[in-house]
Amino acid sequence: MDPNQIAIDALRGAVAAAPGNLDLTRQLTELLSRLGRGDEAESVAKEAATRFPQRRGFQALMAETFFRSGKDNHAAAIVETLLSESGEHAPVDVLLLHTRLQQRRGDIRGAVTTYRDIVEQDEASRDPELESLLGLDDYDPELIPNAIGDDDDTFATDPDDDDGDSDYSADSAAGTAPIENQITDGFETVGGMDGVKEQIRLKILYPLQHAEMYAAYGKKVGGGILLYGPPGCGKTHLARATAGEVGAGFLSVGISDVLDMWVGNSEKNLHQIFQRARRNKPCVLFFDEVDALGASRSDMRRSGGRQMINQFLSELDGVDADNDGVLILAATNTPWHLDSAFRRPGRFDRVIFVPPPDAAARAAILDIHLAGKPTDAVDANKVAAKTDGFSGADLKAVIDATVESKLSDAITSGRPKPITTKDLIAAASKIRATTGEWFSTARNHALYANEGGMYDEILDHLKIKR
Ligand code: ATP
Repeated sequence: MDPNQIAIDALRGAVAAAPGNLDLTRQLTELLSRLGRGDEAESVAKEAATRFPQRRGFQALMAETFFRSGKDNHAAAIVETLLSESGEHAPVDVLLLHTRLQQRRGDIRGAVTTYRDIVEQDEASRDPELESLLGLDDYDPELIPNAIGDDDDTFATDPDDDDGDSDYSADSAAGTAPIENQITDGFETVGGMDGVKEQIRLKILYPLQHAEMYAAYGKKVGGGILLYGPPGCGKTHLARATAGEVGAGFLSVGISDVLDMWVGNSEKNLHQIFQRARRNKPCVLFFDEVDALGASRSDMRRSGGRQMINQFLSELDGVDADNDGVLILAATNTPWHLDSAFRRPGRFDRVIFVPPPDAAARAAILDIHLAGKPTDAVDANKVAAKTDGFSGADLKAVIDATVESKLSDAITSGRPKPITTKDLIAAASKIRATTGEWFSTARNHALYANEGGMYDEILDHLKIKR
């Protein structure tokens, strides 16, 4: 006889003799599930749960059995009931199942938060397989010992903040932003910006593509590029296209992926993010709104913030690990808030101004975003001539507004009509260019705090003599 069947029969006999024995019932359901006999496992679990409705363990077992059969909705319904009944003292096994359900439905951020709570309650319940699924391979709970308020200095509240709470979000994830690996859109999807594209090619793409040549000439490779300029002018779009251009992965990091309310955890998150990029090289590691992470240390009231910057700098320097194959880009609308240490050689040593698109670039952006839409001989140059000061995002808004009005006409008249130049110009006349506001602030920095000519390009753009 099949040894598995012998084991099942023996376990069935044991469960029949001791129906209230949770361990035995669990062994039986696990074995049945493992052998692909999910239906039988479910009926064993259901029978036990019906027989002992007050025993939470049997309810949890039923949820686990559903989970193993891929019946996530059934499992989630039971888990949610158990969690709401248990209030603040949710049992660890139920929480672990909750984490797995969150992970399976793609809510990695939620899963990480739940998992962190579990480990804090009970270190012994750590689960390496789950940690790896959540991208927490380097997880070290030792680094999260204190909650808000335990360390006054680190979490000193902002005196301008009237709510008195820490600014740090309680809901941040431990560096789990997904890596995009299938980007096919390259520089051809970015209108204009020829100068910026060339600098990116020279500084980070050629060194990656021709590593031997750089080595032969003894040219050291490293450091990143900081893109700055008014909002909506394509910094993020360009960073993503950089990954597409060389078939590298793209890891985009926002402030919420890093900042965390736990002491030491923001540094940990940042380290994990760099580690993930290093493990997935070639990879474009892009920090959006980098000023929020690297605000000038002299501006900082929190020592925690300073520690984070130091961590960021040592990751950029590759102190403990090699950044080879990791292409580091960052973007900011307020470069004057960024700590100057970031601009030292080997860090963001190339600072590039991303201006609003000129007329030719605006026409190119319009063409890119109109591609695939029904148009009637649109003259993008004419529209470009009427949209001075518009950012790429403003131009996209013009097209979106045109499409919406065309759709509503088509629905009323029953006859779809293509987009014309006139439609686009009409839509543009109702949309305000957004870049002017940025220049009114940038101008002052360029005039009065232009260290080392950093903002010369702003002065040139504004046609101010230097
Ligand atoms: P922010 O500082 O607000 O984050 P940003 O400079 O990073 O802005 P993006 O988010 O890259 O700007 O641009 C917003 C959208 O505008 C993009 O998703 C893209 O659709 C469009 N866009 C901007 N510039 C270009 C461009 N040069 N070519 C094509 N599309 C563009």
